[in-house]
Amino acid sequence: MEEERVITPGLENAQEERFENSLRPKTLDEYIGQTKVKENMKIYIEAAQKRGEPLDHCLLYGPPGLGKTTLSNIISNEMNSNIKITSGPAIEKPGDLAAILTGLSEFDVLFIDEIHRLSKSVEEILYPALEDFSLDIMVGTGQAARSIRIDLPRFTLIGATTKAGALTTPLRDRFGIVHKLELYNTKDLTKIVKRSSKILNVKIEEEAAVEIARRSRGTPRIANRLLKRVRDYALVLSDGNIDLKVTKHALNQLEIDELGLDETDRKLLEIMITQYRGRPVGIDALASSLGEEVDTIEDVYEPYLLQIGFIARTPRGRMPMPGAYEHLGFEFLG
Ligand code: ADP
Repeated sequence: MEEERVITPGLENAQEERFENSLRPKTLDEYIGQTKVKENMKIYIEAAQKRGEPLDHCLLYGPPGLGKTTLSNIISNEMNSNIKITSGPAIEKPGDLAAILTGLSEFDVLFIDEIHRLSKSVEEILYPALEDFSLDIMVGTGQAARSIRIDLPRFTLIGATTKAGALTTPLRDRFGIVHKLELYNTKDLTKIVKRSSKILNVKIEEEAAVEIARRSRGTPRIANRLLKRVRDYALVLSDGNIDLKVTKHALNQLEIDELGLDETDRKLLEIMITQYRGRPVGIDALASSLGEEVDTIEDVYEPYLLQIGFIARTPRGRMPMPGAYEHLGFEFLG
């Protein structure tokens, strides 16, 4: 059986998907944090409704587990429309996308996760669909081949990506609304943990909620996942209520340290400090030393390590910073 990592912000299985869905906020007011994005979205949604038009196409980007899917569901909910959910890799051929687009109804939201992974030929179908709500399709073959244009219902595309930089310029330019989701601070994550506890019907002490929040690497998905684990420990080791003691015990057992780093984070930092002696190292070299994919390092590990100032990105590569040395018990020689 493959080891299940607690802090990987991606979804692990269908059971976890059901767990997540049960915790998803349904309205903008319930959506915690990301104040700037929320305020802007409120205005855009209200304006679109007053004009009687669909919302402009939106691009949401940021690390996994920060609430892009949740926000997209909320947007469709607030617009009183339906949402169709798919992902870049799931749309293999232009015909797949054509079928999705022709199946939409007026004002529907189409959510495409990992939109940076659409193929070029699929992307080309999307351009006129986004711009003029039309679809150009080829009928016939050889000399008899001709292109016909079909009108589509007016819809809103919401694209989500961990890598805004990986989007082609023509695609990026077709989004009227572009928002970056930021890692959450401890205060907002504490609110998320408390809200989730309420939904799960478990009592949690304030300090315990703060502790889980502090060790969640700024990511709601991780906060919820840690809460789920701590809940198990609380049930088996005490009366089911979550206090600070059981929380610390559970998180230590899971080898998640005071800052929310796990074994792989610590190994990554250690490789930078010992193997590369603190000098700038390229992402490819780092990935092969660690035995991880480049994408995983960039999407999962790096954002938080950058945020807490443990690594820096320089033109010559990634470098470990003094805080990382101290955290791991190495002497920083400058
Ligand atoms: P992404 O699409 O960015 O990978 P999701 O939207 O799937 O992330 O969010 C992961 C989980 O975190 C969801 O179960 C949701 O309940 C929770 N979550 C995300 N953002 C928020 C938020 N702002 N407030 C409350 N819960 C949130």
